[in-house]
Amino acid sequence: MFETLTDSFTSAIKKIRFHDDEKALKKALDELKKSLLKADVHHSVVRSLIAEVEHKTKMAGIGKDQFLSAMQESLNAILDVKGNRGFVFAPNPPTVILMTGLQGSGKTTTTGKLATYLKEQKKKKVLIIAADLQRLAAVEQLRQITQKIEVDLFEDEQGEPVSVVKAGLEKARASLYDVVLIDTAGRLAIDEALMGELKAVRDVANPAEIFYVADSMTGQDAVRTATSFKEQIGIDGVILSKYDGDSKGGVALGIASQVEVPLRFIGSGEKMEDLEVFLPERIVNRLMGFGDIEGLAERTANVIDEKKAKELSKKIKKGKFNFNDFLEQMESMKKMGSMKSIMGMIPGMGDVSKALKDFDMENSKEIRQIKAMVSSMTPKEREDPDLLNNSRKMRIAAGCGMSQMEVNRVLKQFKNAAKMAKRFSGKKGMQDLQAMMGQMKGGGFPR
Ligand code: GDP
Repeated sequence: MFETLTDSFTSAIKKIRFHDDEKALKKALDELKKSLLKADVHHSVVRSLIAEVEHKTKMAGIGKDQFLSAMQESLNAILDVKGNRGFVFAPNPPTVILMTGLQGSGKTTTTGKLATYLKEQKKKKVLIIAADLQRLAAVEQLRQITQKIEVDLFEDEQGEPVSVVKAGLEKARASLYDVVLIDTAGRLAIDEALMGELKAVRDVANPAEIFYVADSMTGQDAVRTATSFKEQIGIDGVILSKYDGDSKGGVALGIASQVEVPLRFIGSGEKMEDLEVFLPERIVNRLMGFGDIEGLAERTANVIDEKKAKELSKKIKKGKFNFNDFLEQMESMKKMGSMKSIMGMIPGMGDVSKALKDFDMENSKEIRQIKAMVSSMTPKEREDPDLLNNSRKMRIAAGCGMSQMEVNRVLKQFKNAAKMAKRFSGKKGMQDLQAMMGQMKGGGFPR
């Protein structure tokens, strides 16, 4: 996530020392300017940002800390566009939201993510209306998503968007839904027919808000299309999808300063859980390489049961971590979203996040092997890995189609992991973990 900006912010900051002179400040500002332009931020935005940072730093006295807070304040001011934050419920339910965006922007996926967020975190009854009847597979894609997240879908593939929306809203009112998300048609580019259809749907739906889903990876193009949607349909919020893939990171600044519509959420992965409320100060912290501990704590709290977490930590400290705990942990981790998006939230872990690239924990060979092995174990063996003698290992190997050598290797890894967890759970745990992560920076995952 936005490595380019974070890396160059860090190098700009390094150019200044305590009690430095204007020459040093100029060097730092030049570095900042270059990095912003490289990250695809519009030159007019860059110019005013630089002027502001310069002014603020000079007012406070030139130095690293002053430069840092000037940057933090100025970035915050850009991203903090006046308007609603996150999801705002209408006074009278259902809250109707029109989801708009170009084809391929991630609109359908984002609609599913938003529904997941509303259902799981806000405990709301959500209905999705499938009004993208342009793209052949769009309704089928929504069917799969809604089945998976267990949210109701209103669809009529043979109908017209306007009549489908009308009928869907009637159902929503009659069945007392809290929120209705309408997935509208997308096109590869903006054209009159699309805008005409969207206007007709908008007028019949009378939505509380219109969200525009912008693909972060399209940089300045995202800014241009969002502007166009704003002018023609009127948008109330932007959701930035694929933020995890945007290595440059300038798009949020571009949308906020040029489109002047508040950013409401960011999509940070392909999973249904990978959606976060856009909070300017947190994004600034992440942009500047400070991490986002609050965000991480929230995600963790959403998926981890406190009582279970305490029991688990006791077990780990005693070195009694077993295979059932392992499976349970895997489930929680899955709910937290991609490893990469989690790592990016830990201060100083930006590099590790980069190294992880698309490491897919759930589908990694190691995890699949452990899962296969566990499925061939008896309940007692799952509780107590120490029970596994040679004859049991042989039976397990046959059961899961692995060689005995492989079973031994995986078991050894599992025991090492349990030992490591015990070590990190101690007083010096966090320091040890950071030291280990530091060693990993070169790439790869520890074995
Ligand atoms: P639509 O045509 O706008 O409805 O786009 P889709 O919802 O079908 O998404 C297009 C592609 O982008 C799919 O492969 C999604 O999995 C992917 N995608 C959507 N949001 C994100 C995101 O936040 N991160 C990543 N990495 N991929 C995403």
